Amino acid sequence: SISLQGAQKSYGDHQPVIRNVDLEIGENEFCVFLGPSGCGKSTLLRMIAGLEDLSDGQLKIGGRLMNDVPAAERGVAMVFQSYALFPHMTVFENMAFGLKLAKTPTATIAAKVNQAARILQLENLLDRYPKALSGGQRQRVAIGRAIVREPGVFLFDEPLSNLDATLRGQTRIEIARLHKQFAAASVVYVTHDQIEAMTLADKIVLLHAGKDMEQHGSIAQIGAPLTLYHRPVSRFVAGFIGSPR
Ligand code: ATP
Ligand code: MG
Repeated sequence: SISLQGAQKSYGDHQPVIRNVDLEIGENEFCVFLGPSGCGKSTLLRMIAGLEDLSDGQLKIGGRLMNDVPAAERGVAMVFQSYALFPHMTVFENMAFGLKLAKTPTATIAAKVNQAARILQLENLLDRYPKALSGGQRQRVAIGRAIVREPGVFLFDEPLSNLDATLRGQTRIEIARLHKQFAAASVVYVTHDQIEAMTLADKIVLLHAGKDMEQHGSIAQIGAPLTLYHRPVSRFVAGFIGSPR
């Protein structure tokens, strides 16, 4: 589980980019951060990951205060939009890398990588190098690298945005399946794509952005996808959820 209380982020003397965010994400919950470009989705995700400090407020993961805990010790795995695989390592080696660093026994590494490869349909590609993979396959390797560490928290930042429409659909289905398989994990998934949000989310956190700097980076509405769709609390929410892509 993840809990944010009064979370705030500002850079230097500028207006805060994350404003007073209170948020609870349960175990087994798929939470989507949604909102226009620049509203603070990535910043909020990076705060949970430990890649940005909070300027104010509290972050807990699994009930434990995380504000001063380094990223590597938070039990989170993050998948970025640009899946930076190691070009000189095979698919297997890429997926095994984190486990090797953690000095996991070789047999355990093999078992975990093979299991992740099965889930993500990468079994026949384990000996390949990244340059011999399609974009969607590479993205699945990046997801596999996160899975093998069996984190309590999965963080995704627009993982599908570099894929074509077909692959985006397929990988989206795989991510949904993955979530069912790892029932004990909290997932936070950043996107500005309303369709991804509506189909994947248990809960949507819609962040404000726009001319009104008083509200920029604050939560416009939290709720189930259909709640935001049918009962938007403001014109901003209605406009954002309702508007076609
Ligand atoms: P996108 O959909 O385009 O990825 P986003 O919602 O992920 O947008 P963020 O990357 O979180 O947005 O950025 C939120 C705001 O914080 C933006 O206005 C951005 O300009 C600002 N920002 C991000 N990083 C910094 C930084 N290092 N210094 C100053 N401002 C920053
Ligand atoms: Mg972003």
